Amino acid sequence: MFFKFPNNKIVQSTREFYALGTVIQFKAYGKKADKVCDMAMDKINEIENNMSVFKGNSEVSTINKNAGIGQVKVSRGTYYVNKKAVEYGRMSKGAFDPTIRPVVGLWGIQTENPRIPNTDEINRNNRLVNYKDIILDEQNHTVMLRNKDQALDLGAIAKGFAADEVKNIFCKHKIKSALIDLGGNIFALGNKPNDTPWKIGIQDPFKKRGEFIGVICVTGRSIVTSGNYERYFMNNDKRFHHIMDPFTGNPSENGVISATIISDYSIDGDALSTCAFVMGIEAGLKLAESIEGVDALFITENKKIYTTCGIDNELEVTSKEFLRGPIKWK
Ligand code: FAD
Ligand code: MG
Repeated sequence: MFFKFPNNKIVQSTREFYALGTVIQFKAYGKKADKVCDMAMDKINEIENNMSVFKGNSEVSTINKNAGIGQVKVSRGTYYVNKKAVEYGRMSKGAFDPTIRPVVGLWGIQTENPRIPNTDEINRNNRLVNYKDIILDEQNHTVMLRNKDQALDLGAIAKGFAADEVKNIFCKHKIKSALIDLGGNIFALGNKPNDTPWKIGIQDPFKKRGEFIGVICVTGRSIVTSGNYERYFMNNDKRFHHIMDPFTGNPSENGVISATIISDYSIDGDALSTCAFVMGIEAGLKLAESIEGVDALFITENKKIYTTCGIDNELEVTSKEFLRGPIKWK
């Protein structure tokens, strides 16, 4: 879609398409917005082709096929995402683990046939999960998994990288105002065209999509949420969702049902939202508070909201059903 306003000043371009397993939306303002949105779509497709575990010929699938066999030369982007993923594995002491694929595959949560695996299967596959087995060679841009049957899954970090890449394209072409939404992984570039901050809704985990617990006002920041409410299956009234606890090989269960990270780079927000979800309120808030420029918001299953100090003023809770926990976790 392409709008040109009569005064010829504000030009808006929008896109909505399916990629990275989700609905992607761009809204960009500026003279070159239409052309730049096309370039951004190409970039998303390139990232999907390189990093999808669902595509047999992607670089990530090639790394997985060569697990325990040999190194695989990869693109700049795939190398960078692997490097950052290992950093977050280390920072979260393994709560975030990009080698989680054997466990994710066992549960099949995003497939048509999800199931609850037995304990032996979980233990066997969970033994393969260890981010320390990702061997990176910076000089040659190669990635290798140390052992046979290990497998990468960059699903918890690559959408964040993609949002940053789209933002970079927009900035390079002088787009000063844009909203990049990769299925809830959002980057708000600049301010709104009327020069007020973007207002981003935080999904109410108990309600249908688009119903919010409140809004956060941001300028030029990434807002990423990991939640248990979009990708899951039910069995005997129990919810089995897609964010795994690498210490147990089961869906993470610690009372947190949604973890949002506000940061300058979306790759950090994506990785950290998954880290925080698995680490839980106390460790997650401590981690977020320890990183300059990063804020966090948690929602628990008993309808409490916890945030870091930095976003206290930016967050407006509109739902009456939720209580604020202590601002800073002690
Ligand atoms: P996040 O918390 O950001 O990530 C959760 C995902 O990361 C899980 O789905 C799992 O894949 C992985 N994960 C689980 N636990 C951990 C952990 N402890 N540490 C690290 N990682 C973990 N979906 C489809 O259905 N079909 C597709 O074809 C498809 N293609 C994709 C291609 C790419 C390049 C990417 C990035 C994603 C794709 N997806 C696809 C979506 C993907 O499988 C995840 O569902 C999605 O990225 C989850 O994002 P999230 O923000 O909901 O949760
Ligand atoms: Mg994530």
